[in-house]
Amino acid sequence: DLRRRLHLQRRDEFGELAATFDHMLARLEAAFKRQTQFTADASHELRTPLTIIDLKINQALTQLEQPEEYRQAFEQIQAENAHMAAIINSLLLLARADTGQIALNLQEVDLGDLALACVERLLPLARASQIVLTTGDLPEVLIRGDSHYLGQMLTNLIENGIKYSRHIGKRVHVEVACEPPLWSVVRVQDDGPGVTDEHLPYLFSRFYRVDKARSSRQKGSTRSTLPDQEKPGGTGLGLSIVQWIVQAHHGEIRVESKIGTGSRFEIRLPLL
Ligand code: ADP
Repeated sequence: DLRRRLHLQRRDEFGELAATFDHMLARLEAAFKRQTQFTADASHELRTPLTIIDLKINQALTQLEQPEEYRQAFEQIQAENAHMAAIINSLLLLARADTGQIALNLQEVDLGDLALACVERLLPLARASQIVLTTGDLPEVLIRGDSHYLGQMLTNLIENGIKYSRHIGKRVHVEVACEPPLWSVVRVQDDGPGVTDEHLPYLFSRFYRVDKARSSRQKGSTRSTLPDQEKPGGTGLGLSIVQWIVQAHHGEIRVESKIGTGSRFEIRLPLL
């Protein structure tokens, strides 16, 4: 093939050029493979709720007789619809991000204020999930960023903390710090179930979920053995979006997690 014909062993300038070209080709191939996999995963994830919706409609048309049965069927249809809408919204955002179509609305943002606003908005969800949502220091820390997307970043992390710890009566804790001269720091930490080391490198990958059977309807079964409130039905895209937002703000994200102890997400964004 092309790469073999380029005589990569040559040690002159042409050899160097060929090696660079080879490297670029490998990266393009990898990117292409990732994109193909992404499309396949997205189709699969969307097909599952569609199949369930179709099944439920058929059932309603041919088998159900009692109003209560109809109500339940339509509630399930509604839930699958909402799940599909969540996947599509996240996919659209990532697709626009991939193609550079999102222009951040950069302004001075106080991370302490923003974190407080997010926490206050999520308090009812935490309460309903029997999670204690607490804040540590939330000083004024100014950065240049897009408050809409930074809010989404915080919301996704806090919601995950609540979602994966819920009904255990545990705590999700949010704090902001300033590490001059360079960094602002945001930490979202929970004492939920945690994640084993082998999963950590993939948490930010699109459609990656640690516990697929519990967090999705992938088994093709329309009836789960778990009651609805125990199924954290996510899209597997939340952390990919968080990662994009962090990168778009020239920041870094790190996660530490331990089974039985909990998870801690730490984000560093450049100070104003
Ligand atoms: P999802 O929509 O499934 O929550 P995310 O991209 O937000 O997708 O997260 C990917 C996976 O990482 C989740 O399915 C879950 O397995 C794991 N995860 C994320 N946050 C936490 C957390 N706070 N505690 C335990 N596991 C988590």
